Amino acid sequence: MSDMQAEVHPRLDFDSEMEILLQTQRPLTRSALLMERAGTQMGLDKDAINELISPQQLIVFRIPCKILGQVVNFWGCLCLHNSARGPFKGGIRLAADITIWETTELARLMTLKCAVCNVEFGGGKTGIRVDIPAMYELFGRTPRDLEFEKIITLDAVEYYSQNFRDMFSEHIYIPAPDMGSGPDEMAFIYNETLDPASVTGKPEGVHGWLPGRKESTGVGVAYTACRALREILGKDTEGASVAIQGFGNVARPLAQSLVGNGVRVVGITDLYGGVYNAEGLDIEALLEHFAENATVGGFAGGQPLANEALFSLDVDVLIPAASGAVITSDNAADIGADCIVEAANMPTTVGGMETLQERKIPVVPDILANAGGVIASMLEYSSSLSAIKPAKQEVLDTCCKKIGDNFNLTIEKARTENMSLVEAAVTIATQRVYEVMKHRRML
Ligand code: NAD
Repeated sequence: MSDMQAEVHPRLDFDSEMEILLQTQRPLTRSALLMERAGTQMGLDKDAINELISPQQLIVFRIPCKILGQVVNFWGCLCLHNSARGPFKGGIRLAADITIWETTELARLMTLKCAVCNVEFGGGKTGIRVDIPAMYELFGRTPRDLEFEKIITLDAVEYYSQNFRDMFSEHIYIPAPDMGSGPDEMAFIYNETLDPASVTGKPEGVHGWLPGRKESTGVGVAYTACRALREILGKDTEGASVAIQGFGNVARPLAQSLVGNGVRVVGITDLYGGVYNAEGLDIEALLEHFAENATVGGFAGGQPLANEALFSLDVDVLIPAASGAVITSDNAADIGADCIVEAANMPTTVGGMETLQERKIPVVPDILANAGGVIASMLEYSSSLSAIKPAKQEVLDTCCKKIGDNFNLTIEKARTENMSLVEAAVTIATQRVYEVMKHRRML
């Protein structure tokens, strides 16, 4: 174990038997380690730190879904991490590799994200283990068929929302999209509750939808990346180079917004392929290619690019905008970028972070950089209740302003207290959650 890990290692005697059984706290996550360190600096006792780190409720479920006449059982979990500052809020992730540990970490990140951006929500998350390649095998299908994939995700979310309808309707947990789900799936949740404030990320036209919600996460990440370029790297955004992993809900508007700011997006990869162009990719043409092929692979406006090669590209900023744990102790030494802006949730592991720190490559944390989505969700929630619809630009401006204000605080804390940006952001968030828990006598 490294010095940094040893220094911030939460005490093993914190774990209740149930947590050991459910594996919510092992292996230790970056946020748990940093919350432990923040709590210790704040002079909190071990029980208070444990309450801050641990989930308040964890529900593990199986949902039988009838898909194309066949019953398929999906496994999943709903983690309600912390509701001190507001209702549990967090996306629904559909993926083949869902675990309780990961879902708990993602819920914890939502608690920290809402706190560091001053959004009045708590943190939650749903993970449903949906293995799309296995579904092709089960139903004897080839080749790739987007309609078939949509039937599976919509059915999974529909059955899931039937199970948890009351929780959504009572605004105990308010879901949103995450990897593998999007506005279409959120419309199905609305169909269950008929309450526009029970779910955010609804598609255009569905009662309570919000202009700009679809683009908000990506635009917020682009705003953060531009500020990192200027204020951390001291570079002009015009002509700066960026590489992005992923081309999903977050990465598509992110790439558009970066190009709108004069940035060259030189490389993009997704699950099925990748593309590189040193002059900067034509993102509008790439979006057209993606609409037809559902991958950036095969795009004529560049050369093929493998995922591993994306990480070692010599660029100003690398933006992981796909899945978690992609920058690890195995590949952090090969990162070619001068700065990392985390669009995905927890893309950098503890080991990866240590290597990047040694190499003095700054990391702008997920809880700040990708907070645009939850900030827009805050507006979608409140406008659903009031029936007042803000304009798209107003929504995007609010996202950037809230991220910007708290980015300023984070940079300031990191500089004055000699911390990394990640440590500073987690410390600010932990302090805010702790104070409310104290006021509410939750501690
Ligand atoms: P998405 O499902 O729309 O897109 C994911 C993209 O990543 C796809 O292009 C996919 O091909 C690619 N991808 C997945 N695994 C990959 C891998 N191993 N290698 C290369 N590419 C891979 O998901 P999204 O909604 O864009 O979310 C992306 C990330 O951003 C996730 O970590 C999510 O938790 C986070 N996030 C999303 C939102 C939101 O509003 N959707 C908000 C905050 C954070």
